[in-house]
Amino acid sequence: MSSSGTSPRAFFIPLLLLSLRKFKLTNMTFKNFIQLLFCFVFTFSYAQNKMNKTKKAIIASVENHKDNLIKISDDIWALAETAFEEHQSSKILADYAEQQGFQVERGVADIPTAFVATFGSGKPVISVLGEFDALPGLSQKAEPTKNPLNEGAAGHGCGHNMFGAASLGAAIAIKEQIENGTLKGTIKFFGTPSEEKYFGKIWMVNAGLWDDVDVNVSWHPSASIEADVQSTLALIDFKIEFYGQAAHASGDPWNGRSASDALELYTTGVNYYREHVRPTVRMHYHIQDGGQVVNVVPDYSRLWMRVRDTKRSGMMPVYEQVKKMAEGAAIMANVDYKVSLISGIYEVLVNREGGKIMQSNLELLGPIEYTDEEIAFGKGIQEATGKKQVGMDSAIKPLEETQEHPGGGSTDVGDVSWNVPNINLGVTVAPKDTPWHSWAVVACGGMSIGHKGMLYAAKAMSMTMADLFENPELVKSVKSEYEKRKGDEVYEAMIPEGPPPISNKGN
Ligand SMILES: [Zn+2]
Repeated sequence: MSSSGTSPRAFFIPLLLLSLRKFKLTNMTFKNFIQLLFCFVFTFSYAQNKMNKTKKAIIASVENHKDNLIKISDDIWALAETAFEEHQSSKILADYAEQQGFQVERGVADIPTAFVATFGSGKPVISVLGEFDALPGLSQKAEPTKNPLNEGAAGHGCGHNMFGAASLGAAIAIKEQIENGTLKGTIKFFGTPSEEKYFGKIWMVNAGLWDDVDVNVSWHPSASIEADVQSTLALIDFKIEFYGQAAHASGDPWNGRSASDALELYTTGVNYYREHVRPTVRMHYHIQDGGQVVNVVPDYSRLWMRVRDTKRSGMMPVYEQVKKMAEGAAIMANVDYKVSLISGIYEVLVNREGGKIMQSNLELLGPIEYTDEEIAFGKGIQEATGKKQVGMDSAIKPLEETQEHPGGGSTDVGDVSWNVPNINLGVTVAPKDTPWHSWAVVACGGMSIGHKGMLYAAKAMSMTMADLFENPELVKSVKSEYEKRKGDEVYEAMIPEGPPPISNKGN
């Protein structure tokens, strides 16, 4: 069976409606009746056919594991471990994969919390990504008003607790079909830590972990359901340090050379430069150390600088320019300086052929249904965050055009997408217009709205993977689009020499 292209239902449903219009009990002809019958039978039998045996089995598998997947998601939600510290969260996912018969390799790419779970053998090799890190300071109970679970602690404000659980559920559903002989090939689940800081996937990509993979599938928790065919921004993070000479700020300031003067001059330069960059460029910085006390001329300062643009090719010249500014600031303040690369990520390489496969499966699954309590919870979140109280949005929209300048955020899925064709999905786990990276996402991710989205994502991804396993020509079309979009650009991981920054607390 094929799942690509426009759904024939889109053609037959209007025909059916047309027949219904003609349908009048009093003067229905035999011809009208047969026409009506034909359309009914064709429309519904086609829908049945599209949901083939494999997909029915996949949905049953996700449902079978439902309680465990929800528990995994909730446990990771409660742990809320941050970048590279996700030891228990990683273990929960890896252990469950191992129990299910996957061969699990832990601590890959020199990252203790990164792992690969593999099942099956031979081609095709299809993989799925699972993130599980939380964000600092966003602790929240599963309630529709702001109320921290542990004051000051971390929380899953990006929904990565559901991300990991759903992807594992999808991998298991495929594994069961390989095990019973329905599908042939290899399924890999990648446990990918530290998406929120440092971008762990870059080191995993650099270690060649996707080299034998044909197609990768991923998703992200969202406030709507869509086969995601939009890119993200490329970004680069680097650290600038200034080294001066300490002195008494009033007694003998002429003996001092101020590292914080250099820092101020540097940020002034960056802020003037904003006027002369393209509108798609973003520059932000975080002053990490600007001196300790007022009566000492600071001999050290440090800032975390970030540059983004729609594409890496646009970002790099801006990066080179703001690096040079560090030298200018150091000259003016008569101090020394050092620029160090932290890490940088690519924009996502979109795959529309893959998006079409995902879209056809979303149409098969249909929207998520919510209870009155869940809709009320969603409206509560909207009220608390000053949004219109419209509730949940889980409608299946048509596949969108891919925008030239998508704006928005960045993800290290970008680096994966430059090394293997990637199919992406967004699934509703929070009400419409929910502020992301906020307590509101944490709240929904710990209750049934999040659970429903997580299980839905598991089904949509595994159905899409099943299409790839069953149709080599789909893998071929996804791959050929990938080759075309990548062109002759050679991927180059934007990371410094040496091991990943596992123990770099805060700098
Ligand atoms: Zn995220």
